[in-house]
Amino acid sequence: MAIAITSPIPDVCVIGAGIFGLSVAWAARQRGLTVQVIEAKDIGAGASGGIVGALSPHIPEQWNPKKQFQFEALTTAEDHWTQIDARSGLSSGYGRAGRLMPLPSQAAANRALDRATDAQTHWGTAAAWSVLPPDAAPNLVPNAPFGLIHETLSARLHPLNACRALAAALRAQGVQILTHTPTQATPKARFETPTGPIQAGQIVLAAGVPGFDLLAPLLGQVTGKGVKGQAALLGASLSPDTPVIFDDGLYIVPHANGTTAIGSTSENTYVDAVTTDTKLDALIAQARILCPVLKAAPVLQRWAAARPKARRRDPMLGPVPDHPSLFLATGAFKIGFGIAHKVGAALADCLTDQDPHLPESFIVTHHMDRADAPDY
Ligand SMILES: Cc1cc2nc3c(=O)[nH]c(=O)nc-3n(C[C@H](O)[C@H](O)[C@H](O)COP(=O)(O)OP(=O)(O)OC[C@H]3O[C@@H](n4cnc5c(N)ncnc54)[C@H](O)[C@@H]3O)c2cc1C
Repeated sequence: MAIAITSPIPDVCVIGAGIFGLSVAWAARQRGLTVQVIEAKDIGAGASGGIVGALSPHIPEQWNPKKQFQFEALTTAEDHWTQIDARSGLSSGYGRAGRLMPLPSQAAANRALDRATDAQTHWGTAAAWSVLPPDAAPNLVPNAPFGLIHETLSARLHPLNACRALAAALRAQGVQILTHTPTQATPKARFETPTGPIQAGQIVLAAGVPGFDLLAPLLGQVTGKGVKGQAALLGASLSPDTPVIFDDGLYIVPHANGTTAIGSTSENTYVDAVTTDTKLDALIAQARILCPVLKAAPVLQRWAAARPKARRRDPMLGPVPDHPSLFLATGAFKIGFGIAHKVGAALADCLTDQDPHLPESFIVTHHMDRADAPDY
């Protein structure tokens, strides 16, 4: 049932209660703004309601503002999630467990050694990158003839639990979250719910994949699309300090709650974003070969959703050109959870008339200026 939107008019209305919308709402509230969140379905109903939750850095070479943004997010994530857990009384499942990546060849091992120097340059003492010998993780990755990369910047959390913790922390701070309240873009008012037009000082659109359609009439173009991912949760209780494992597109994420996630497929074309199929079976089989301790673990959950990918791949954040008081927080694609709190802070800067210091490739026009040549 839709609930009437109560006055007084909030400073900010955030459309979408995924990890980006909730993180923007949190950061805006911390700046003293009054905030309302409007969600079509439920907390984490889109890509954020998942089970994988690897927070991993880009490779520390060819450094650029995007990598610096993500680095700063990853090195401050622990403080952020500790605060959210404390304020909500719930667990986000955050833990900085690091990551292991088996090396496929001697050439890859040589490159990995070079990258240890790059990591030192760009990560400083905040995290380390090293190459371990083939027998370094016999229980987890017994077959790694060229050794394994071990880096200590990666972390993991439980995506749906993190969203629920954030929502509880927001409610504890007086933020109203209206669920089951779909928003439509209309010619009359920019955004309207079943109970009337959204009234707020400023609006942040953080509606994931459907947000690209909501935005299209305002921009005159579609600036992104969904990329489907499938994942599974296994009943394999690895120690909570077990590193995340990554190999050839496959993530194995041991969670704090005694489950282990396997992810993810990456599908540009699909009929139904939320069903799973044999592509997931293949991924689970790949995980069981790489990490034989998972061999007999039962599959507890199969899950799929579409990730919001902006036209030029990077996040799409900040003011919407020619639409005063309207801001975007989308394009999280595959890295949303690792950068969300910093995205929230950047949007809160926008909402309070401060410079968000966003990388050039994150701003809205970056995703618009090649309308004739979609960069999907
Ligand atoms: C299989 C899979 C594995 C992944 N693994 C990882 C990982 O390991 N690490 C990582 O960082 N990221 C991962 N991701 C990506 C991550 O999930 C996304 O980057 C992130 O969830 C996107 O968050 P969002 O808030 O932008 O969008 P969403 O989570 O999709 O949130 C949008 C919200 O807006 C709501 N909404 C939509 N339309 C309307 C409307 N009209 N009115 C009101 N509300 C509306 C939706 O219901 C939804 O709740 C994975 C994604 C998938 C699918």
